[in-house]
Amino acid sequence: METVEFESMLNAIINGENQSKDIIFDFVEGITTDSIDEGQIIKWLKTMHKFGCTNEDVVNLTTAMRTSGATLEWSDGKPVVDKHSTGGVGDKMSIMLAPALAACGVRVPMLAGRSLGHTGGTIDKLESIPHFSCNQSPEDMIRIVDEVGCCIVAQNPSIAPADGRLYALRDVTHTIDNIQLITASILSKKSAEGLDALVLDVKYGSAAFMKTVDDAVALARSMVAVGNGSGIKTIAQITQMNAPIGSHIGNSLEIIESIEVLHGRGHRDTIDLVVLQGGALLHLSNIAESQEIGEEMIRLVLKNGKARSAFLSMCIAQGVPQNIAQLLISDPQSVLPTSKYTTQFFAKDSGYIALFRTLEIAEHLRRMGAGRLNLEDVIDPTIGMVIEKHIAEYVSFGDQVFTLHHSVPLTNEEHTFFSNCFETQPEPFTNLPRLHMTIT
Ligand code: URA
Repeated sequence: METVEFESMLNAIINGENQSKDIIFDFVEGITTDSIDEGQIIKWLKTMHKFGCTNEDVVNLTTAMRTSGATLEWSDGKPVVDKHSTGGVGDKMSIMLAPALAACGVRVPMLAGRSLGHTGGTIDKLESIPHFSCNQSPEDMIRIVDEVGCCIVAQNPSIAPADGRLYALRDVTHTIDNIQLITASILSKKSAEGLDALVLDVKYGSAAFMKTVDDAVALARSMVAVGNGSGIKTIAQITQMNAPIGSHIGNSLEIIESIEVLHGRGHRDTIDLVVLQGGALLHLSNIAESQEIGEEMIRLVLKNGKARSAFLSMCIAQGVPQNIAQLLISDPQSVLPTSKYTTQFFAKDSGYIALFRTLEIAEHLRRMGAGRLNLEDVIDPTIGMVIEKHIAEYVSFGDQVFTLHHSVPLTNEEHTFFSNCFETQPEPFTNLPRLHMTIT
């Protein structure tokens, strides 16, 4: 990019003024076509990270990144909706949410990511199902959604390719944690899906990327403003992420828990979050008259098998042979990979479970192979844990609290860590609800 134009962008950022819309579009095109000097991109990223930018810049950046690749064009008909989560431990909501929403009569073209930092990725979880493919083209996504109502596909260079390049550079220049860059990154991909409605699950707490409510609210407000400004009805649910979600953590284990929920069983924590997100999307897209009615609709399709049927159809449409897909639903353990070892951990005192060291648990599981330390690392889908006793539940000395699934014998250090990864307290208490507030 010409020095004069480039310097004008930097000066605008430093002075708190709008960057020229045309120059932002040229800059993003240069990133997409790899015709801009990497040094310039890095300098721009560092300046954005240090000074922030105007709301108009975020909208222009989001639009330029969205139009850097394919956008999904839908025929008239059912509303098109999606959800984005900023990432949690045991966050498997999309696996149940997409088919539940499809069963309620909306179209769900989900683009999802792989594991990031200590949090798992929906794509890694689905890829633990033999033959499940997440590599569909935009045309395939439209065809599958028209046929079965939903699909869950890996983010790929055909959609918002400028974001892929920029994200990789943000990662190595430590400029990920900037609210405006995060907003443009997420919203460019979501708006490329051609959505009518979007729910953002913005998590806060010790095991979330945003540690405080204030930071989560600031990110949520930024994304809600840009989402609505792009013509997508967008709300954010600020949810607490201190304890693992539901009963299972780990790639293939989370598929097992999801299938339990699709059978109308499963852990209440998981069901309630799916119902909360699904209810909001049905309300936003005018399928339900209120959030409460939307929630009832989601609960019903989880109970009556309609969400399970949509999940089965999605698995088949995404490459799983019919007989394997049916077996996956009726007996998931016989289809999914299982760990070589399991170790049970027990309560060392009687009392109420006061906390799980959720971030540290996730980091340990990641090092044991459940997540990636480097981009090229291969995940072991069998690693994880199944929690039998949850926050605020009473345990007696010697009760089993959780089972660890692992591929090699535990080291002494690992055994000590997992024995001490939860605490009890003598007094009963009520756990914080997941939903803290909604930003509209
Ligand atoms: N996820 C994204 O897709 N982009 C970000 O910037 C952060 C999380």
